Amino acid sequence: MGFFQRCAARSLLQGRRSLCGAAPGPERHQPDAPAARSAGPSSGPGRRYSAGVPGMQERTLVAVKPDGVQRRLVGDVIRRFERRGFKLVGLKLLQANEGILAEHYHELRRKPFYPALIHYMTSGPVVAMVWEGYNVVKTSRAMVGDTDSAEAKPGTIRGDFSIHVSRNVVHASDSVETAQREISLWFRSSELVDWDCCDYSNTYQL
Ligand code: UDP
Ligand code: MG
Repeated sequence: MGFFQRCAARSLLQGRRSLCGAAPGPERHQPDAPAARSAGPSSGPGRRYSAGVPGMQERTLVAVKPDGVQRRLVGDVIRRFERRGFKLVGLKLLQANEGILAEHYHELRRKPFYPALIHYMTSGPVVAMVWEGYNVVKTSRAMVGDTDSAEAKPGTIRGDFSIHVSRNVVHASDSVETAQREISLWFRSSELVDWDCCDYSNTYQL
């Protein structure tokens, strides 16, 4: 049986109408609203094929910062998350304004580097992404590396592509709770796509 036939058979077995694509669900085609299910388990049991494994639907916000976009590192960052096995469910290029960054970095507002951080983050476009998969918050932090690029280990994004904390290329949420808040801040629910990967059996024990 060929690859696509196996996908078709699996979809039929799951009683699904979609074939290796976006799953029909209540979140799709909704009018713009802040992202409701941004991280953590699905609210609807069995709503998606991927709901079968606990934690499989965890989500996190990853953003390529202005220095990363200027240096044409967007593809490298995406490639690492794809190759690790995570699933892209949201992606956009935007010029962030001070309002969104003030909310995003609210906890750092009294730090001495805060004004320089806002200046850096508004200096050019950012690529914001939502990635989904088992333990994605913790794993993505490990993939991104230490905040201080000088301390970041080779093999991490910051350790491979940057040398100073003030230009550390990428952001990743630091906890599941933070991820929920940040995804809701940067994305509307209509901008996130629920879909099933054809090759789940190669990344999870289903
Ligand atoms: N930052 C900085 N100088 C510092 C610490 C942090 O410019 O001494 C910047 C850096 O871009 C960092 C961001 O502030 O990524 C947010 O800091 P946080 O401690 O949340 O680190 P992260 O979660 O990004 O690793
Ligand atoms: Mg942080």
